[in-house]
Amino acid sequence: MAAKIFDAVVYLPIIVVAMIIGQIYFEDYRETAHSRHQIGLNLVITVTYFIQEYCLLQLSLININEVAFMMVVPFTMLFRNHQNRIWWLLLALTPLFANAIEALFGVERFSTWWVWFLESALFLAICAVLTIWQHFSLRVRYTMAIASLGLVELISLGISDRLTIANVAASTLGLLLILIFEGQRYKSEVKNNQRIKLLQRESERDDLTGLLNYRALSQEIKSLTKNRDIHNIVIGGLDIDHFKKINDTYGHFVGNEVLNYFSTVLRERIHAAFPGHGYVYRFGGEEFSIVVSNHAIREAYNILQAIEEELTSQPITTKEGISVSISFSASLTNHLNGEQLNDTLKRADKMLYSVKNSGRGWIVTDHHKAVIKKHQAGHQRDHN
Ligand code: GH3
Ligand code: MG
Ligand code: MG
Repeated sequence: MAAKIFDAVVYLPIIVVAMIIGQIYFEDYRETAHSRHQIGLNLVITVTYFIQEYCLLQLSLININEVAFMMVVPFTMLFRNHQNRIWWLLLALTPLFANAIEALFGVERFSTWWVWFLESALFLAICAVLTIWQHFSLRVRYTMAIASLGLVELISLGISDRLTIANVAASTLGLLLILIFEGQRYKSEVKNNQRIKLLQRESERDDLTGLLNYRALSQEIKSLTKNRDIHNIVIGGLDIDHFKKINDTYGHFVGNEVLNYFSTVLRERIHAAFPGHGYVYRFGGEEFSIVVSNHAIREAYNILQAIEEELTSQPITTKEGISVSISFSASLTNHLNGEQLNDTLKRADKMLYSVKNSGRGWIVTDHHKAVIKKHQAGHQRDHN
């Protein structure tokens, strides 16, 4: 007897946990699978699931003469991803399946089929409320769901007059063990996700300047084009003029200092001018990109012009006391609806080359076919 309770408390929950882990692999597989493979995969999941459930039912009947833990797998899977419809379906079918098998074995009567449907509806309702109502943390809601399974089990044992210490201990301790296993797995999953997010963030930063890099730029454009609140995206290309000369004259370290200084000024000014709508990227080397959303190209032009004025009027003084004045060339173009990011960037690049070929230190925009000269000899400005 004691050995049977031990089996029920230790082995059965381990089997359930192994089943959950198996399903998680299926789920991951499902997320990476091509849509035409989904029907086949759903079928494999369904068949495997019911074979597992059948084995669990047999084992629990042998050990405690009671069907236990059958609902834990669909409950857990729904708490992992409640948008996955297959688990809602399997959750609804499980009580019907378990009761039908029990009826075949003579443990249950077919005439009580309506109770089976009630059970199914009750479990669906519990999961619907606890997965969708997000007032408490996921862990608390999952604990509440598992506790509700224990409670339903106690009530059904009470009704059928089988409320023995062995039965109560087996299901209560078994569910506790499952909670501990799943809690640990959830904790390590949260930790891993945090680590992945950190690595992702780091992979989107440029080491020297701390600016976002090209990878982040393509991600941002993708999400901006999907965002319905964004109706206008301006992309700018910037290139420091004669930067090689700074490196050749003062050395690479001074070059790096200049890059850092330029990055800081550009980032601060763009962020201040377009809060939440202006981003600065290091495209590579001494080339930068800006993305400004929901603002007119003219506004971006004005800010770049102000930055150019600031940089030319206040040369930077390096740690060694060297004074370097920075000038840059820039292009601003609108990202067209449905256009590939590469095509916009190519256009910005081509426009930038036109500035480089016409003397540098200019900004060209879509609306000014002729380049706008930012500063001529004697700091005169011409906005044609
Ligand atoms: P232009 O006005 O035509 O843009 O001339 P430029 O000299 O700025 O452009 P060019 O492409 O000839 O040279 C860019 C230089 O930038 C060459 C490369 O050594 C330097 N560079 C690229 N990345 C870094 C970096 O991280 N640090 C430093 N110090 N220099 C860099
Ligand atoms: Mg350059
Ligand atoms: Mg360049």
